[in-house]
Amino acid sequence: HERMTTVWSVLSCHAEQTPDQVATLFEGRSTTYRELSGQAAAVAAALVGQGHNSGDRIGYLGKNSDYYFALFFAVARLGCVLVPLNWRLSEDELAYIVADSEMACLFSDAEFAALAARLVGARGLPHRLLDRAMLEDRSDGAALPAYGVDPQAVVFQVYTSGTTGRPKGAMLTNRNMLALREPGYRAGLDWFPTPGCTIGQVLPVAHIAGTAYALFGFYAGARVVITREFEAGALPGLIAREGISHILLAPAAMQLMLEHPESASADYSSLAYITYGAAPIPEALLRQAIARIGCGFVQMYGMSEAAGGVVALQPADHTSGVPGRLRSAGTAMPGAEIGIVDDDWNLLGADSTGEIVVRSGSVMPGYWKRPDANAEVFGPDGWMRTGDIGRIDADGYLYVLDRAKDMIISGGENVYPAEVENAIFGHPDVADVAVVGAPSARWGEEVVALIVPREGTSPDLASVLAWLDGKLARFKLPKQVVLAQSLPRNAGNKLLRRVLREPFWQGHERRVN
Ligand code: ATP
Ligand code: MG
Repeated sequence: HERMTTVWSVLSCHAEQTPDQVATLFEGRSTTYRELSGQAAAVAAALVGQGHNSGDRIGYLGKNSDYYFALFFAVARLGCVLVPLNWRLSEDELAYIVADSEMACLFSDAEFAALAARLVGARGLPHRLLDRAMLEDRSDGAALPAYGVDPQAVVFQVYTSGTTGRPKGAMLTNRNMLALREPGYRAGLDWFPTPGCTIGQVLPVAHIAGTAYALFGFYAGARVVITREFEAGALPGLIAREGISHILLAPAAMQLMLEHPESASADYSSLAYITYGAAPIPEALLRQAIARIGCGFVQMYGMSEAAGGVVALQPADHTSGVPGRLRSAGTAMPGAEIGIVDDDWNLLGADSTGEIVVRSGSVMPGYWKRPDANAEVFGPDGWMRTGDIGRIDADGYLYVLDRAKDMIISGGENVYPAEVENAIFGHPDVADVAVVGAPSARWGEEVVALIVPREGTSPDLASVLAWLDGKLARFKLPKQVVLAQSLPRNAGNKLLRRVLREPFWQGHERRVN
């Protein structure tokens, strides 16, 4: 593994050492490491032929595919920077990222070709179809420059999910993308992919979790099974058919899969480890998943700015029986450190509540063109603020309370919406729930629960309060229950509390944490 210090070297090493091992499987098409490296070289040659140089931002708009990874490695081969766009974003949101990133060209799959052409056409930039012809074209003739990419060079510019505001471009270097792999293997983490395993890449590649998870598999020399998009009904069958042993699921995806009728009779026995994260998980859902599937579970806490997960709740932590452990996000991964700070960057002791900070080789050099945001997040000694509030216990276990911007201050007490949502989630009539702060003359802010009822039910405040009796401190209890048909989520399926909060705050000024 020591030779895999850049993204390209991950592919080239395996292409050399295990050329005939299957690298990707996509809709019945399997590609070996040798073939994938040949495809990446063909795309790289095309990029050179089109005059692209190291440092150029190359966009991709489309769904997941094996071809996307050929592009990813091609861009890395040349020292360019891949900017993946989430196809779930609206055209305006995409246009913002196309402009902000200053991309030099935009690749797309066939499905998004017209939209991609429109997005870059308006700026006089080329659109290119990432198709079989490009991957197999050996005629271009453009010679690839000798490989000499610096591990510190930026290779991936991933936009944050835009949960708390406009998405920001987190610049990630080759080193950032690989920093926590080698230390994890050295520490003997048994849930890391192995050469013989099959990992499921079903989350969108435009999220850091999506691309980073597949790269995790490639790093191990594993077989990466890719689905065009997440399909709750098709996934159980795919897991059994392909013998998927490792998979990454967001909590919302896990819930959709478990609640799908196909899940009832599914054979999950090939699964060794499910990794989940990217958003808080309701404890009831986690317990349900553990009981139903019974494999190892790993929680990851991380963010675009740190190239993905930096904290992990290990499989053994899920079965330790230590009270409250399942509500923890885990301990710092080997190679990463976490801390809790106050507003002035003072590190606080065990069990203090404050903002979570991270220090790790995976932490980005900065946001693209955002000196204001950079000044806010980077502090002394290499620490980076995460925007999340949490606490770390004496054993090093992190408890993520919530995003600083969503915290509710009611009667001088801090209320973390995630905790209240988690408690309400178990109510039998509740299909989905969001908690936000609304202005209150008496308390400053008061807790409001927006509930999507299960079919045929209509839970009211009294029934919710009866359910919560004894579960939460009084100041955390909702003052209002509002029924909703659905809850707004962003392209990454994350709850948009700022959108839900807005109507309550018209004509009021809300303090921002
Ligand atoms: P933006 O920064 O634009 O508001 P975002 O923070 O949602 O969007 P991402 O980088 O995709 O963008 O997500 C990182 C955030 O996701 C973390 O800061 C944290 O709030 C949340 N998160 C990630 N993993 C977990 C986890 N295991 N438990 C709770 N929250 C998590
Ligand atoms: Mg963020």
